[in-house]
Amino acid sequence: MGILGKLFGGDEGTPPPSYSHVKIHPQVDNGVGSATPGFSGGTLKCKCATNPVVVVVSAQTAHNHVCGCTKCWKPDGAIFSQIAVVSRDKVEVTENADKLEIVDPSAAIQRHACKECGVHMYGRIENTGHPFHGLDFVHTELSTQKGWSPAEFAAFVSSIIESGVDPSRMDEIRGRLRALGLEPYDCLSPPLMDAIATHVAKTSGALK
Ligand SMILES: [Zn+2]
Ligand SMILES: [Zn+2]
Repeated sequence: MGILGKLFGGDEGTPPPSYSHVKIHPQVDNGVGSATPGFSGGTLKCKCATNPVVVVVSAQTAHNHVCGCTKCWKPDGAIFSQIAVVSRDKVEVTENADKLEIVDPSAAIQRHACKECGVHMYGRIENTGHPFHGLDFVHTELSTQKGWSPAEFAAFVSSIIESGVDPSRMDEIRGRLRALGLEPYDCLSPPLMDAIATHVAKTSGALK
């Protein structure tokens, strides 16, 4: 052990534990992939075996992240969802739109879910004053295409406790997120929080 190790009690040669026994979401549990340059979108399908709802997303997504909130749709067994944004004019329901319903009409994000299988196909903000108006929220794991923007961070991490995750697990869960390169935040990432605050400041006149 070197002098720094002696001072701080660290064991320099040992990497931090990767917490690989901790499952976050199937799209990141085996490592976070990377976007394909030039990727320009794909097709999302719900989980219905017959007559699935089909949504065409005709652009690459942005700000993909895993989310611990209680509102986002999660695949069975996952404690996080994975969700990204894309311009709303790039999102089109092409099949079985009649199977969609809005989960909670009073929510800021109107999540359009399949009435039969429960999968959320897209979330839309209708309030033109909302900082994220113009962006739809989509789960690109519903697509068989590869090359979507990968998760970049973890949002609303503390909120998983509200879904029933034991608070004593938070250290290993945050540890796993960091090992995957998904910095854990208890709200959104700094760039998105800054975008919200900038929108609020421009609306109030505090920023010109
Ligand atoms: Zn369905
Ligand atoms: Zn969420």
